[in-house]
Amino acid sequence: MTELPICRTCGVQYGAASFDARTCAICADERQYTGWDGQRWTTLAGLSAAGHHGVVRPEPPGLWGVGVEPAVAIGQRALIVPGEGGNVLFDCVPYLDDRTVAAVHEHGGLASIAISHPHFYGAMIEWSRAFGDIPVYVHAADRQWVKRHGNVRLWDGETLEILPGRTLINCGVHFPGGTVLHWAAGSALCTGDIFTVVMDRRWVSFMYSYPNLIPERPSVITRALSLVEPFEFDTIYGGWWGRVVRSGAKAALTASAERYLSRLD
Ligand SMILES: [Zn+2]
Repeated sequence: MTELPICRTCGVQYGAASFDARTCAICADERQYTGWDGQRWTTLAGLSAAGHHGVVRPEPPGLWGVGVEPAVAIGQRALIVPGEGGNVLFDCVPYLDDRTVAAVHEHGGLASIAISHPHFYGAMIEWSRAFGDIPVYVHAADRQWVKRHGNVRLWDGETLEILPGRTLINCGVHFPGGTVLHWAAGSALCTGDIFTVVMDRRWVSFMYSYPNLIPERPSVITRALSLVEPFEFDTIYGGWWGRVVRSGAKAALTASAERYLSRLD
């Protein structure tokens, strides 16, 4: 399957049935953009030939991250979230190869994959297959954006504990299916850019579109905060290397929402 198309701008791999070479539907949406040189595609083989490789390294203060170097498309990194019943890969990246898979196995392999939102689908079905057709949890509200189906498990509702101590929360920011993962043992939220850790890493923010700077609606943010309120967490891991609120994250989230909402009077 190394020849399936991967969008160069968002990094999402398409199945043959969903592919239209003229347009990446995810990039055509107002939350993304088509590359300035027009719609371009690559493949896993193309990325490998161009010298990209997977990296697994610590993401302090307590997780391992998975990324691609040189960065591809949006450049996010995923997280290996450990616990009883095996590791969860939270979010995904556009690339993997045998060395990347071996590096993840050194940390115990993967039992499940869960994704925050469509921009981070990456090559999620390739990752599922590489670890034994493990489930890929995507919130059902985002079903229209799944462009390669494989072992995708669409889930409904507000929360779902997919493995002990790893609970998905459908915060609905950025995308209706926008999902964060609560890691109980680490007292942390993994948020991708559902709550995005900003350059001042004591704070987060909330956007409907990041590249096009379209703010998220106040009612959506208020609902999201009420959903995470019952969970204890001291750290927020955003979607890129180093984008981490290392401590005091629950108070930082509340203060960030208050600051954001105060600008929208
Ligand atoms: Zn795209």
